[in-house]
Amino acid sequence: FAPWTDPSAKPYISFRNVTKKFGTFVAVDDLSLDIYHREFFALLGASGCGKSTLLRMLAGFEQPTSGEIILDGVNMAGTPPYRRPVNMMFQSYALFPHMTVEKNIAFGLKQDGLPKNEIAERVAQMLKLVKLEKFAARKPHQLSGGQRQRVALARSIAKRPKVLLLDEPLGALDKKLREETQFELMDLQQDLGLTFVVVTHDQEEAMTMADRIAVMAAGKVSQVATPAEIYEAPNSRFVADFIGDVNIFDGLASPADGGTLDIAVTEGFTIRTPIGTSDVRGASRGFAIRPEKIRVSREAPMNAGVNSAKGEMWDIAYLGDMTVYIVKLKNGQTVKASMLNAQRSVENPLGYDEDVWISFDGDAGVLLKD
Ligand code: ATP
Repeated sequence: FAPWTDPSAKPYISFRNVTKKFGTFVAVDDLSLDIYHREFFALLGASGCGKSTLLRMLAGFEQPTSGEIILDGVNMAGTPPYRRPVNMMFQSYALFPHMTVEKNIAFGLKQDGLPKNEIAERVAQMLKLVKLEKFAARKPHQLSGGQRQRVALARSIAKRPKVLLLDEPLGALDKKLREETQFELMDLQQDLGLTFVVVTHDQEEAMTMADRIAVMAAGKVSQVATPAEIYEAPNSRFVADFIGDVNIFDGLASPADGGTLDIAVTEGFTIRTPIGTSDVRGASRGFAIRPEKIRVSREAPMNAGVNSAKGEMWDIAYLGDMTVYIVKLKNGQTVKASMLNAQRSVENPLGYDEDVWISFDGDAGVLLKD
């Protein structure tokens, strides 16, 4: 499933140069974005970046100041929320406290005037889907936070919208339940063949669930890509830093032999990396590399000083599945390296204050463009 790689595939939802201003404040800034049918799409960004505003414009609760939103080939300008093939599940569940789970789920269907037997059938189907058959007769206050969330989900899916919008859907759940519910949501989305657009500030959540992620900052999209692409090949310093842990080494760049670029980070530490298509003569450049791509050893590696540097073991954190090492280089920069404990030698472990070497492969990180 990767319609975005197919140039002939038509997007299902298109934001075209959408701007939203509140007074003089620009919440969404000339943003263009395509989302495909049956895609699980995540809008990810820090608080205030405009992701909820984008979702609310898609739902029709806010109007763009300029630009267009196209849904299934139709320009949504002037279409009120209730006429859009979209439903929104809210962060606060907004369940009716005096109604049973069953009645809560049936509510929207009744309003739409569906026949009684059809409503009963759909409610039963939804209860089964979210595994709440046994709780049909309970009221919201008799449920756990996770169960309430599932009722809200069932209610928003019962109307069978083509697009389901979810604003921080798992925000109120504790870690374990959140992880479980993430997988349930993914199954649900696949089973129903719906398009999901989820807003989250939680990168792990976005990485786990989404087919693609739009990383947002200050009303703009910084990068749109699959979780793996965003992690492995961030297109900017901001994205590299925002997603996961990263080390960024800066230095003066000069082309070296064989299509490589040398970045002089500090005395005795040069990064040699494939030059790719960049033109980089004499400029200061950054190289971003993930902690798990960095090795730590007592012995100096071959060609010491190139893609390797001497430092001092500053900190060691045992995290169960892995161990994180913080190594301080001569220039004072700290480097984070991580190693799976299953691969770590337990016989003669590295200790605090030891002189160590960090090393990595020249193509294990990315050359930053900014
Ligand atoms: P959060 O995760 O905190 O909800 P967000 O990325 O979803 O953040 P938005 O809710 O889209 O951010 O808001 C983007 C910006 O627009 C914020 O700075 C917010 O204060 C502002 N904003 C949103 N709605 C309004 C409004 N009705 N009037 C004025 N400013 C608004």
